[in-house]
Amino acid sequence: MLQNKVSVITGGARGIGREIALLFASNGSDIALLDVNAEALEITRKEIESLGRSCLVAVVDVTKGLEVDSFIQKILDKFKKIDILVNNAGITRDGLLVRMSEADWDAVLGVNLKGAFNCTRAVSKIMMKQRDGRIVNMASIIGIMGNAGQANYAASKGGLIAFTKTVAKELASRNVRANAIAPGFIQTDMTAKLTEVVKSEMLKHIPLGKLGLPADVANLALFLASDDSAYITGQVVQVDGGMVM
Ligand code: NDP
Repeated sequence: MLQNKVSVITGGARGIGREIALLFASNGSDIALLDVNAEALEITRKEIESLGRSCLVAVVDVTKGLEVDSFIQKILDKFKKIDILVNNAGITRDGLLVRMSEADWDAVLGVNLKGAFNCTRAVSKIMMKQRDGRIVNMASIIGIMGNAGQANYAASKGGLIAFTKTVAKELASRNVRANAIAPGFIQTDMTAKLTEVVKSEMLKHIPLGKLGLPADVANLALFLASDDSAYITGQVVQVDGGMVM
């Protein structure tokens, strides 16, 4: 579905981002990964190369605009184009609002929202010139419904949804599409931190009665990055087992 495309995936070393990178590579795309986890990046790079695709990786913090710009330029130098950007890097620093520190607010908004801005701004000129591009932003159902203890995370993901719609409107005339995925609870290291009590409480609100898998999210990312979704832009698609409807 992505034969000879070039995909840039942030936070692509582990979890959902890694799953997306491997699925895109097995569908014919070359891959560039930005992540802060050097060890995991190397492992994922080798996995992608074993699928027969090129893979460029760099330890880049998405909150640093200059680092992002310089790596995007390196990707362009190597592959001569960038077809797909997946803004997936994300963190949590949970706590009730009254106890939430300014540092925890800034950290989450920095990675989840400013990081997406930095990367999208860096690729948008390239995609506009190409008259082709697909941007997929990893939001969350928490950005739609809110969640006690996650004011920073909910604000970042709600902001990312609004950002997605704006990018979709600004870039549509150049055939660049932007959509958001809103996963529910997916089995990754991020949700492994949750206690069994929280997990079993959550399951009561999931009609399909189970947590999702990274592959469930990656399959949607593949569709949104491919020509199969050519007439879809500015949308938020939930992968949540029916949790929010
Ligand atoms: P993980 O924590 O498993 O992986 C995130 C990756 O992003 C890690 O490799 C992490 O590095 C990296 N990263 C963290 N900060 C930065 C940064 N500043 N710059 C570049 N890379 C960074 O997360 P998930 O796979 O669970 O989540 C991926 C996305 O999906 C996130 O945006 C998350 O909010 C969203 N999501 C996840 C859900 C879930 O249930 N898991 C539900 C809804 C949305 P390191 O290893 O050093 O932490």
